[in-house]
Amino acid sequence: MLFEDIKDNFPILDQQINGEKIVYLDNAATTQKPKNVINSLINYYSKNNSNIHRGVHTLSQKATEDYEESRKTIANFIGASSSKEIIFVRGATEAINLIANSYVKPLLKKDDEIIISQMEHHANIVPWQMICEEKKAKLKIIPINKNGELNLKKFNEIINKKTKFISINHVSNSLGTINPIKEIIKTAHQNKIKIMIDGAQAIQHLEINMNEIDADFYCFSGHKMYAPTGIGILYGKKEILEQMGPYQGGGDMIKSVTFEKTIYNDIPNRFEAGTPNIAGAIALGKAIEYLNEIGISNIAKHESHLLNYATSKLNKINKIKIIGKAKEKAAVISFVIDGIHPHDIGTIMDSHGIAIRTGHHCTQPIMDFYNIPATARASFAIYNTTKDIDKLIEAIKKCIEVFK
Ligand code: PMP
Repeated sequence: MLFEDIKDNFPILDQQINGEKIVYLDNAATTQKPKNVINSLINYYSKNNSNIHRGVHTLSQKATEDYEESRKTIANFIGASSSKEIIFVRGATEAINLIANSYVKPLLKKDDEIIISQMEHHANIVPWQMICEEKKAKLKIIPINKNGELNLKKFNEIINKKTKFISINHVSNSLGTINPIKEIIKTAHQNKIKIMIDGAQAIQHLEINMNEIDADFYCFSGHKMYAPTGIGILYGKKEILEQMGPYQGGGDMIKSVTFEKTIYNDIPNRFEAGTPNIAGAIALGKAIEYLNEIGISNIAKHESHLLNYATSKLNKINKIKIIGKAKEKAAVISFVIDGIHPHDIGTIMDSHGIAIRTGHHCTQPIMDFYNIPATARASFAIYNTTKDIDKLIEAIKKCIEVFK
């Protein structure tokens, strides 16, 4: 399949915004959905809708089969050793909250420490702050350098006997930095510390294998990888999940209930209380089938080409400063333009039919580090082309002209 033709699989991209053919460059916020994912939702609700796991009737069995089949597809996609290691959650945010509350909180004592980094999304800061406050524990931060790379020397310095857990993103949503997670995970394990990787911005761009990276926990959101909102994945090593208590209580996460004692279900059901997002879970499997058809390594090559193309074009415009110049980057470019507020850049891009994101991108500590209120961010996906980038560059030049 040619990348030029991929747009045809995404109905939403066949429209005009403000009189111009849409150029969608807000993929780090959420991606658009291909036809097979949309059709999967239509098919589920028009043919198979039924609650899972509890029914003997045909529809319930079919829905259960499809839901569990999707779990297997996801397990294979990330190289998990068993589909029991795959827990359906609402998204990366819920996955991090689940681990903070069910795994880390019970381990924490006063003055213990949790390590995160300066480039985390708020979703990988606030849940840790909340449990640290409750347990009187401390949050330690790995600093970044001006290029937006982690200072690993400092990481080795702050890790110590009081460190109880580490949680780091794989790819930064506002800088695009790809972190050397294999090395970080190895260091964590040499110090006998468990580690979670927030893969919300990595899973759609890079080939990832759980067996190879050896993370204890890894999470991501479906909506950033061409699947619907409200569905995401928490991966956890089987032997750790088996030792963990539940996050929420309710139906499906139990084996038996009496008023005296409840026996919890086995993994993964123990962590999936209540009726899940069945249609979303099935559609996530379809999004992965779509990605597999194109091939993640082809996607990585295509997006890296777009990143290099856009970076060199932006670098040629005098007033532009790119925020985040790590050696290893995914297809995300944050930038500021001298004398123009990012929100004005965003509004002018929109008037040309170009969707980019402006703001702090839920990473306020990064904005503080660079001493800026916000950035404009263009982020690329499989359906983007160099023509999209040319339109962005043209619109940016016009924007600079307007503000001259
Ligand atoms: N982590 C990172 C790196 C992200 O980019 C995001 C979403 N912007 C999240 C976590 C949270 O994802 P969600 O809102 O889908 O739960």
